[in-house]
Amino acid sequence: MIKQVRANYTAPVIEKEIRDYWDSTDAYHKTKELRENGERFYFVDGPPYTSGHVHMGTALNKTIKDILLRYWRMNGFNVRDQPGFDMHGLPIEVQVEKKISVPGRVNKDGKPDEVGVRSKKEIEDIIGIDNFVNTCKQHALTLQADMTEEFKELGVWMDWDHPYQTIKNEYIESAWWTIQKASDRGLLDSSSRVVTWCPRCETALAEAEIEYWDETDPSVMVKFPLIDDPNTSLLIWTTTPWTLPANLMVAAHPDMTYVKAVFSGEDDRHEKIICMESQAEYVMKKGGFTSFTVLEKYKGKDMVGMAYKPPFEIDPKYLRQSEYLFKVVNADYVEQDNTGLVHTAPGFGPDDYDTGKRYGVAPFCPVGESGRYTEEFPLMEGRKVKTVNEDIIKILDEKGLLLNSEKIKHRYGHCWRCKTPIIYRNTRQWFLSVPKVKEKMLSEIDRVKWVPDWAGSTREKNWVDGARDWCISRQRYWGIPIPVWECKCGERKVIGQVTELKDGDGYTEGMDLHRPWIDKITFKCPKCGGVMRRVPDILDVWFDSGVAAWASLGYPAKKEEFDKWWPCRFIVEAHDQTRGWFYSQLGAGVMSFDRTPYDEVMMHAWMLDTKGQKMSKSLGNVVEPKEVASEFGADAMRLYSVRANAPWDDTSFQWDTKKNPPLKEGPKNAWKVLNTFWNVVKFASMYMEIDQFDYKKYDPAEMKLYFRFEDRWMFSRTEKMKATVTEGIETRELHKAARAIEDYIMENLSKWYVKLVRDRSWTEDRDSQVDKLASYCTLYYAIMQTAIIMSPFTPHLSEEIYQHMGGEKTSVHMEDWPKVNVSYMHNDIETNMAVIQELVEDIATERAKMGSKLRWPLKQVFICGKDKEANKAVEMFEDVLKQQGNIKNIVYITADKIPRDKEPCSYSGGQMIIDFDVTPEIEAEGYARELIRRIQQMRKDMKLNVEQYIDIRVNADDYLVKLFGTWKDFISNEVRAKSIEFTGPEEGMKSWDITGKDVKILVRPL
Ligand SMILES: [Zn+2]
Ligand SMILES: [Zn+2]
Repeated sequence: MIKQVRANYTAPVIEKEIRDYWDSTDAYHKTKELRENGERFYFVDGPPYTSGHVHMGTALNKTIKDILLRYWRMNGFNVRDQPGFDMHGLPIEVQVEKKISVPGRVNKDGKPDEVGVRSKKEIEDIIGIDNFVNTCKQHALTLQADMTEEFKELGVWMDWDHPYQTIKNEYIESAWWTIQKASDRGLLDSSSRVVTWCPRCETALAEAEIEYWDETDPSVMVKFPLIDDPNTSLLIWTTTPWTLPANLMVAAHPDMTYVKAVFSGEDDRHEKIICMESQAEYVMKKGGFTSFTVLEKYKGKDMVGMAYKPPFEIDPKYLRQSEYLFKVVNADYVEQDNTGLVHTAPGFGPDDYDTGKRYGVAPFCPVGESGRYTEEFPLMEGRKVKTVNEDIIKILDEKGLLLNSEKIKHRYGHCWRCKTPIIYRNTRQWFLSVPKVKEKMLSEIDRVKWVPDWAGSTREKNWVDGARDWCISRQRYWGIPIPVWECKCGERKVIGQVTELKDGDGYTEGMDLHRPWIDKITFKCPKCGGVMRRVPDILDVWFDSGVAAWASLGYPAKKEEFDKWWPCRFIVEAHDQTRGWFYSQLGAGVMSFDRTPYDEVMMHAWMLDTKGQKMSKSLGNVVEPKEVASEFGADAMRLYSVRANAPWDDTSFQWDTKKNPPLKEGPKNAWKVLNTFWNVVKFASMYMEIDQFDYKKYDPAEMKLYFRFEDRWMFSRTEKMKATVTEGIETRELHKAARAIEDYIMENLSKWYVKLVRDRSWTEDRDSQVDKLASYCTLYYAIMQTAIIMSPFTPHLSEEIYQHMGGEKTSVHMEDWPKVNVSYMHNDIETNMAVIQELVEDIATERAKMGSKLRWPLKQVFICGKDKEANKAVEMFEDVLKQQGNIKNIVYITADKIPRDKEPCSYSGGQMIIDFDVTPEIEAEGYARELIRRIQQMRKDMKLNVEQYIDIRVNADDYLVKLFGTWKDFISNEVRAKSIEFTGPEEGMKSWDITGKDVKILVRPL
């Protein structure tokens, strides 16, 4: 049974009802059950971080996933659609730190000051790690629940009741197993290295966790006097004076020329300084000198071993003595800028560290976890490093070592979570030796299908090519504990599965594997009998998701699920995952399985703001998907986000509210398309319901004989659209699929076919019933096929229409993907129709030029085709041309018969000549049509049902009454009037102006 759809496409209301309908009918589970025995399709959801919010990027991401999962299901696949959430890590810790209270803490005035954690010490000593971790867990779960609701509101169908969560014991176990695998293969390594460090969060950070922006810092030139010649100094430059106490070497470029020169200035000032030759002029200016004289020149490589006096004296007990300590060394990275000599502190810079390693100079790092000096530098002990710059500069000045001091604005790294400027520190960390498996990773990239291709062949390859060791340790609490136990004797144990914990002391069945509980487990050292304790670090949160493809299956604990699904056939994420999830899975997969866990990667782009900038809270340019959905509906939001651009091209979001003029590319445009489809369905469902059209009785194959050419044209267009949409999804060019749907609805269905069939739907003439049924059959097919084919894109709207049009399944999403029926395709008919459309447009243009109203019929149009074929095109659709052009007669002529007094205009098939003569008959018909339009408008204003009969009384001048009289039957039929009477003016009549004549009309429902 077909039921008319409601009058207006109120998307947010309809969508809510549809989601309730899905819940009450259990449509999601029924749809999955239907495909239970289909070919298995393992899809892995890239887990969004539990931020509590679905932003535009996440919405786009889940929309693409939902479209494809629904599509595969409609194609018969048994799709695994478990969503995931990335729930550990600093972002959650920082949020919890901000709100948790530190009991008993007071401020300087002795008043309670308990909100917010300021150091790890407070977590460990006052709050307790257990309490802190439990709070993090609760917080993450709340955020996850909030996000789940938002995803559901976008219409995303995933297994929301059974998501994989990185914080679950089973998940942690899979991550451990992976670490153990890496360890077995000799890929896990612990060593002291210089790493980027957040002094507030007191942990190492990965490069991906650092955000850069401009900071103002000191820029100083400092003299290091030579031991052999204290009146001569090496001149270095630095922006981090606080690292000078840890200076151990000065680096020069081996191939550059350096000079020893006397720099002279006012007041008889002279200084002997060594710097790069090319920089001497610059040094003169910066040092406030007026001239310099070169005394000596040497190559950088000849300077190696030159000894100098460091700016600060360090207690020798903290320094490991070595040959090159406080000497000039060589390094290739020294550039031709500033002084050309580089202050080298192996404890505070990765390059410095490497140089120290080459020269056997051990790092010296007098700074603790919280970024404060330790007892190793007593002068500043307990002070935060970045706060002492001014004091250091003052001391240097007093010692006569400062040549120049300025400020500089430069890009500086900050912690991604707390925005604190990072420092570099030398600490012991855990690494995965990615370079050792790099070759295999590169060959795996070749094996995988990347969409677009360059996402793999260029982007991912470049990234992997430059891959360095992956620092996986973090000195925090809320994360997967590193499963390594160590003994003082050097013995190490890496745990891969929970069962292995049972050999340890302190294990209880089913215990939470997080810190601090896991820290209590100890093992007896098999080598020395001592106690083995866990390394207190946790894993880099980026590692968590890297194991998702097997951790979400519960492998290695549950082999069955793994055997059933593995490996993953498809993943899709944004381009920033080249260095993120695509990479971490590739690395972890190769380390554990010697293969990447996925076979196809689709890369999508970002949703940027109107100006093409990244949306961010600090810029205040964030548009929430919720806002868009509450105005235009989730379906419009979905359609817009995939139609705007190719999935891998960034989209600048066009926010066109209802108030603003609509933008071609905004979500409002997508809404317009859906609303247009809605109106088509409204028209069709209304007449079909009235006529109780039984679509089951009228199979298109059996109705063939009764179809007009325009019906066959519509069938052909429908099949072409289906083919384009299918191809677009198969090639992942979702924008092409979405645009094909849009074009079809706007140009073919609404703007053309519905116009052609209006009169046919209206007829009550017995002889025309079969013709009407043929049009219903065509329209029904077009609407149903469109609803089904759109369903992955616009799941709510499709469902609403499908249910109203008598869809037989519980849900449109249980339908099979429509097969393209080639026998319905007719290129010749389409070509001919295109000619007619062109002619109709040309005629409208010509009419406009002549001031001829569309409602007034044209007496005749001459068609002079360039050949017989051209005329055939018009002949096929002569009726359509007459109807759409409002033409009384079409006359085919040859070129020599073109009337001399008329101007021909050319079209693609030849020439066309319009006869604008207005005969009395045409005038009568024109006025009749004008009258009809006014009456229809009145019916509409009175909200009359289409079936409603009326009486009409008309008051007009005698001339018009006479004209109307000749068309009385036609008018009655068109407006469904039982009677029309022409009278004098009456009470209640509405006055209309028809081409300057006053016509009064009264419509009375019967
Ligand atoms: Zn931080
Ligand atoms: Zn031992």
